Amino acid sequence: MNKGLIAIVVVIIAAVFYFTQTGQETSVESSAPAPGQAIERTIGMIDDARINAADSEPGNWLAYGRTYEEQRFSPLTQINKDTVASLGLAWFKDMNTNRALEATPIVVDGRMFFTTSWSRVYSVDARTGETLWSYDPMVPGEWGRRACCDVVNRGVAVYKGRVYVGTLDGRLLALDAESGDLVWEVDTLIDRERFYTITGAPRVAGGKVFIGNGGAEFGVRGYVTAYDAESGDQIWRFYTVPGDPSKPFEHPEMELAAETWKGGEWWKIGGGGTVWNSIVYDPDFNNVYLGVGNGSPWTRVIRSPGGGDNLFLSSIVALDADTGSMKWYYQTTPGDNWDYTAVQDIALADMTIEGESRKVLLQAPKNGFFYVIDRSDGKLIAANPFATVTWATHVDLETGRPVENEALGYEEKGKWVLPGPLGAHNWQAMSVDAKAGLVYLPAQDNPLFYEMSEEYKTTGVYKRKPQGWNTGLEFGRLAQVILDNVADQPTPKGYLKAFDPLTGEEKWVVEIPNYWNGGVLGTEGGLVFQGNALGMFNAYDKDTGETLWSYNTYTSMLAPPISFELDGDQYVSILTGTGGGDLFGGEPLPPVAEHASLTYNNYGRLLVFKLGGEAALPVPDLRDREIPARDVASLEHTSIQRGERLYNENCAVCHGFLARSGGAIPDLRRISEGSLAAWDQIVIDGVLSANGMASFGDVLNQAQSGDVLSYVKARAEEDRLTYVGEKDLPRMTWLDGAE
Ligand code: CA
Repeated sequence: MNKGLIAIVVVIIAAVFYFTQTGQETSVESSAPAPGQAIERTIGMIDDARINAADSEPGNWLAYGRTYEEQRFSPLTQINKDTVASLGLAWFKDMNTNRALEATPIVVDGRMFFTTSWSRVYSVDARTGETLWSYDPMVPGEWGRRACCDVVNRGVAVYKGRVYVGTLDGRLLALDAESGDLVWEVDTLIDRERFYTITGAPRVAGGKVFIGNGGAEFGVRGYVTAYDAESGDQIWRFYTVPGDPSKPFEHPEMELAAETWKGGEWWKIGGGGTVWNSIVYDPDFNNVYLGVGNGSPWTRVIRSPGGGDNLFLSSIVALDADTGSMKWYYQTTPGDNWDYTAVQDIALADMTIEGESRKVLLQAPKNGFFYVIDRSDGKLIAANPFATVTWATHVDLETGRPVENEALGYEEKGKWVLPGPLGAHNWQAMSVDAKAGLVYLPAQDNPLFYEMSEEYKTTGVYKRKPQGWNTGLEFGRLAQVILDNVADQPTPKGYLKAFDPLTGEEKWVVEIPNYWNGGVLGTEGGLVFQGNALGMFNAYDKDTGETLWSYNTYTSMLAPPISFELDGDQYVSILTGTGGGDLFGGEPLPPVAEHASLTYNNYGRLLVFKLGGEAALPVPDLRDREIPARDVASLEHTSIQRGERLYNENCAVCHGFLARSGGAIPDLRRISEGSLAAWDQIVIDGVLSANGMASFGDVLNQAQSGDVLSYVKARAEEDRLTYVGEKDLPRMTWLDGAE
């Protein structure tokens, strides 16, 4: 394509994007070749052989975890311990979003391919950041309400001249890598009424594209599908949990799984087991490994009251990549009771263990144990804790099963448990340093007070909420429950660790004063890169953990960095912007440190660094944190109390605990007089649904909407008085006398 053509395409795309932003209808024409027409492709010609030989072209980043092994360890050495002091910003690109950015860019042919919020896809010149094309899949704004964890996307796969992306509303798209034109699109969802979402990056191998989905909190049944990369035709589908027992098993593995679900009616709620992040191809065995998610609902006594392991929840499942039939599985958390997904990034490695070379799989799932598993048969080799774990005492290496801490069962009485639902490690990628036998791991201690739902405790019955979270825990009274037990709360903390997965030893630990930090990149240059919640993009000495370089991005980060090389220059890049699974955590309460996206703003940007880079980010203003005074004298305590429950059940997962937003979503304590006046039009009529604030008219009537407003006003006024020093928190005045 010549420059003139590029300019025209850019103008057309800019126009399409403009219309998208303003909500007008538009469509993107497909330029798919007619059947039988020869396809001429020059850009993005990555294939299996190239990914297998990725170390022979370390200047590119060809796949999600760089190679099929997904170790995220760059062989590049120009940026190293001696030179990193002169690392500077080469260029940056505003992505025009304040929602979280989580993607790993693919770099090939001098281009970067990546996604931003709302599943938007970009191809940019890796030397300059100039947009070559962008594609907006036009995810309906109201789908934002169906996302448990922000309108995020973790990236694309590039393969044989195509760019593959899963969209928040459950479609899988193939785009032309050179032009960005849509080639094909399939609907991956088995039920569009249920709240499924796709946020994970597709993986490609052997002519197939693999994609799963999320949504377990809302009550769905997990599965993964393989599609033909050229045509989009479905090749196989593997369900991760059994369905309605009155219907035939979809595949033989479901018969095995069904024996481990006892009593209850899990299929009505969904069962869970969504595969929303890690699907890893293993060329050594032609396997695909699925990292399977938590149960739906979270609480096993509701989900499977007769007990049982509830396969394949919280498991690593090995499938034949060609047929989708199961070869083995390993369940990290039998009978999951805590939202302990095993969807966290899986890395493959060859390790020498007791003098023998073994092909192993590495994973640090939410439950806090680091698993080393033999890829040939699924046998457990090691399972050492990598953060504070209280739900289990240890993993028995003979049986391969965790030994639960019975003192922390919460069926009768609520308890603080570590890890909580954000996990001891989440999707933020780790980096494997195979030569050193170490993993550089973003870990956290972040507890939850687990308490059974009041509805279940008083009636023994749990009713599915089709449009809400289905955890089985008490969310409505969560603020009261936490404040009642705050004296015993373990302190939330974040860590970057150099961890030996075989021995469980920590070679070094960097403590970070906020728990929700970014993914990690290790390099042969002796460095470990990580962006954190405080807005600092840091390079650490991989041997000691000493900070060798630090750059203030003014924005909290979650995304993992990558490295590439062009024209003899090594680059390191990262996307900025927080949110994701911790919208609920909101504005941190001391002693957790405030993060950069609250202090400044949540700037969605792509930052690219090289030695001697001289670009500069604009220094942002401090965010206006003043809370306007609200007239609360006329509010009824009972309305505030009802509003608190409704807020916690329907609003808190995005707008934040105690109506304190974490920076990515509007803070309801600070909304304008105009929005206050239009409250019911927003909450009931959905006038802001294009922005992601869908109507809640299906779960809230006008009186209830008014109760939520009472609560929000009361919270705002309480915090305002605290901040000006007229009141002490944390004890909500209206809680006294509450049921
Ligand atoms: Ca979950």
